[in-house]
Amino acid sequence: MPLRFLFVDMNAYFASVEQQDFPQLRGKPVAVVPVRAETSSCIAASYEAKVMGVRTGTPVWEARKRCPNIVLALARPERYVQIHTKIVQAVGRCIPVTKVMSVDEMACRLIGDEQKPENATRIAQAIKQEIRATVGNTLRCSIGVGPNVMLAKVAGDMKKPDGLTFLHPGELPGNLHPLKLIDFPGIGPRMEKRFHCHGIVTTAQLVELSIGALAMIWGSKVHAERWYYLLRGDEVADSPTRRRTVGHSHILAPELRTDLGARGVMVRLIHKAAARLRTMDYWTNTFSASVNYVDGPRWEVGVNMPLCQDTFNLLMIFSKLWEDKGVHGQTPLKVSMCLAGLTPSRCATPSLFEQDRQLTKVSHVMDQVNRKFGKNSIHFGTLFGAEDSAPVRVAFNSIPKFNPAFT
Ligand SMILES: [Mg+2]
Repeated sequence: MPLRFLFVDMNAYFASVEQQDFPQLRGKPVAVVPVRAETSSCIAASYEAKVMGVRTGTPVWEARKRCPNIVLALARPERYVQIHTKIVQAVGRCIPVTKVMSVDEMACRLIGDEQKPENATRIAQAIKQEIRATVGNTLRCSIGVGPNVMLAKVAGDMKKPDGLTFLHPGELPGNLHPLKLIDFPGIGPRMEKRFHCHGIVTTAQLVELSIGALAMIWGSKVHAERWYYLLRGDEVADSPTRRRTVGHSHILAPELRTDLGARGVMVRLIHKAAARLRTMDYWTNTFSASVNYVDGPRWEVGVNMPLCQDTFNLLMIFSKLWEDKGVHGQTPLKVSMCLAGLTPSRCATPSLFEQDRQLTKVSHVMDQVNRKFGKNSIHFGTLFGAEDSAPVRVAFNSIPKFNPAFT
């Protein structure tokens, strides 16, 4: 079995970009924060801050306590994306990038002679050098090489910062033994607890489990098989998403066969589909809508967008499309909408934009309230009148009051 993948993971990425752009921050403990508030949490920490016990998720007040001289840098998502593009290009000059996994991670397939350890080592060193030389010399990365993407990523995580680690397929599974269960992407604290409940506390135990035993713990035969083979170094296709779309359509009651009526029903369908999406724990990147008229041609529209899971952004996108449609005085009969390009949460990179994260949280809270008090107890209110043409990313504080009158 060959070494099929090389995985690049930038170290302390956001904090390193800050240190790159602002030389006075180099060598200092830096934490990147999404907003200036003591109650907020760090979204990244430089290595100087990490040694003081500050890491992603540490609340700002606690970071100050642990590291009184910490420098807090306000996150600049657009800049991180800009540098990300440069890094992907730099890596691409050394070896083709097969898949960009997130803003600071990418996987590259090794082919032919590249799979020889000495050649993979040379490529890894070239990547590090190219990033330093052409993007910024404070930008370091850990590189892992392994027989599949999952194990290459795990290898990369084994030495930080600036590591180069191999997980040789011939040494599996023994070379995994030093790892903790939560060192595997996909095993979080909750999953770890479940393993503990079944008496599995070490990776040595994990790799001995049969597919049947894994399925019992995971509660899914599909996941179990996938993990069984991944841990043995096989290349396994991403688990197929059984569901590709979430959509609803509705024949309008006679009194709703107006432009405004059609719009109102569409808004309701979007609420319903977005809630379903969140229950399934999926994200969407394609929205489409259509209206069938009694006395005219069908109106149909579709757009691609960044991954989204919140009702608010979907409604904003819909509002804009509806506004562009205009009013033609025809009689609508049926409205339909569909969310496609679905990605499960575990594969989705959460939005870099704090505001989007907040909106997703707001949407989850809406779901909880609606589950408790009945469907449509709350929803986004009159902001979505046809006269409104606000941009998609509006300020968080302009979210309208919930309108309890919607039934
Ligand atoms: Mg990283």
